[in-house]
Amino acid sequence: MSLSLFTEFQPLAAIATTPSAAETLYPLCQTIGATLHLPDSLTPFNNSQTYTISLKEHLATLWKTQRTLIFCLATGAVVRLIAPLLEDKSTDPAIIVIDQTGKWVISLCSGHTGGADRLAELIATELDATPIITGASANLGLPAIDILGLPFGWRKGEGDWTQVSAAIARQEKVQVIQEVGSTLWQDHLPENHPFYFGFPEADQAIIPAARIWISATKRQFAEKSDFPRVQWHPRVLWVGIGCIRGTSRQLIETAIEQVFQRYHLATAAIAGLATIDLKADETGLLEYCIEKQLPLKTFAAEVLGGIEVPNPSEIVSQEVGTKSVAEASALSAVSPQKAALIVPKQIIKSEQEMGAVTIAIAQSDLEYTGKIGQLWLVGIGPGKLDQMTPAAMTAIKQADVIIGYSLYLELIKPLQRKGQIVESFPITQEQKRAQRAIELAQWGLTVAVISSGDCGIYGMAGLVLEELQQAGWDGHNPKLEVFAGISAIQAAASRVGAPLMHDFCTISLSDLLTPWQVIEKRLEAAAKADFVTGIYNPRSQTRTGQIIKAQEIFLKFRNPNTPVAIVHSAYREQEQITLTTLEKMLDFPIDMLTTVIIGNCSTRQYANWLITPRGYIS
Ligand code: SAH
Repeated sequence: MSLSLFTEFQPLAAIATTPSAAETLYPLCQTIGATLHLPDSLTPFNNSQTYTISLKEHLATLWKTQRTLIFCLATGAVVRLIAPLLEDKSTDPAIIVIDQTGKWVISLCSGHTGGADRLAELIATELDATPIITGASANLGLPAIDILGLPFGWRKGEGDWTQVSAAIARQEKVQVIQEVGSTLWQDHLPENHPFYFGFPEADQAIIPAARIWISATKRQFAEKSDFPRVQWHPRVLWVGIGCIRGTSRQLIETAIEQVFQRYHLATAAIAGLATIDLKADETGLLEYCIEKQLPLKTFAAEVLGGIEVPNPSEIVSQEVGTKSVAEASALSAVSPQKAALIVPKQIIKSEQEMGAVTIAIAQSDLEYTGKIGQLWLVGIGPGKLDQMTPAAMTAIKQADVIIGYSLYLELIKPLQRKGQIVESFPITQEQKRAQRAIELAQWGLTVAVISSGDCGIYGMAGLVLEELQQAGWDGHNPKLEVFAGISAIQAAASRVGAPLMHDFCTISLSDLLTPWQVIEKRLEAAAKADFVTGIYNPRSQTRTGQIIKAQEIFLKFRNPNTPVAIVHSAYREQEQITLTTLEKMLDFPIDMLTTVIIGNCSTRQYANWLITPRGYIS
């Protein structure tokens, strides 16, 4: 299993206190990249860690260093162990409990922000166990409100999160006022969601039970208001900044806070800082950005000079070669998207300290996620879910977005998370699908692009990589991983025995993107070289002649009695399997959901099975 599927839960520690618990956890640890912790009374495993003190004491250390703790212990024992350590659900590690037989995977604590709910699902997929998730939103099939904005890098603001979550759990009407940030999440809500968007019309008597603001504004909520409110802050604000050399981090921070307060803006909505490249090594600025984990974008004077700003200054121009630093760099940081300067240049001075800080704020349409996106190219196998690898299943469950052709999205529907963003495209729009996936991943989302069978065999993987190359991809951002799947040729072969026991090839008869001469040349070569041949895309409504031509070519080199398998919709409800011969193959229905396997000169049929001898000389 790919460790990248579990990076968001790292570091991970798994704890067992009995030999059978250790047996259950050990393979799981390797799959998910967890360290197995065992008392010194147990025989160690490869790479396991032994503790010699009591588990209680050992846990006190793990608590501070680990993001996730997995126990294979009685739930009661775990509750007693962690009780003294629990502080806050936004900072405590995620806690998972697995029973010794590996049948049940319980999300015990930090289910939302800590990710325990999601990890319990993934581990259950891996162990073929049942996840036990008791949070109300999960059971209503609703996205949890306190993790709603995480895929987009939004930051949580103040508010009564517990009471708003409770209102959602009671399925009361919850008003959402979204002023900034992506609205993609709104398009993928389950039907029973309790939200309504914006303000009701005057004649609508909707009294909300709770309100969610999604905004760059920082709102103060009165303690005794009539209903609970929370606020998410998408990171849409770019702070353009100018300062004299040597300005302290403290003064920069004070200045930013003052301006934000003056304009009622949330510092949590800051995407990053921007300035002139002369300031790229300004210590105070760098310290501020590191501490707040904000990017610093810098621009050359010539770039800034070309930006139209409301408050240009000749004095600044004489000093640094552009009439604006703060306003122009805030706007440049947002470009090439649409930018609006929402706070013009403000000059902040300090009584205690020399110097001054100039600040301007621009707002972008698209929020900054602060994340490196991932592109997961996933093969979902021929159809039935049990023909998919656990890694592929996990990738689909874990992704923020799933992109694919609607028929395949239907096949994997049981794996979809509630609220997961799913975008379907018609069968002909493969390139658009690839471009959309790349766009979302470049923005910072984790995107699973699905193909039937294997993604890298006449699938989406090549298209995505080609598009990435065209876009000048650096190979790292977004990250990319390909998840193999059972291809149609393997699926079809498995239904008819062992036709692929010797050298074989596959040929697609689709001449939409490949000239027919090339296909014909390959058919000739394969037939002549006695390869067992799997034919993909054999016949569509408009392409009917190709399979006739293919038969003709094979008949030139092979016996008319050569066994042929026609496998329609392998591992799907409409599966149909026909064993015939090269001569008679066209007497049976063949369409775009069919793979045809033509045997080699040694392939034979025995009791409804095809056998191609392995070929050892006896
Ligand atoms: N990436 C896919 C192939 C896509 S090309 C894979 O690796 O399987 C589409 C062709 O695959 C179809 O025209 C058909 O020839 C074959 N195919 C896909 N799924 C199939 C199935 N369940 N049964 C039989 N053939 C299938």
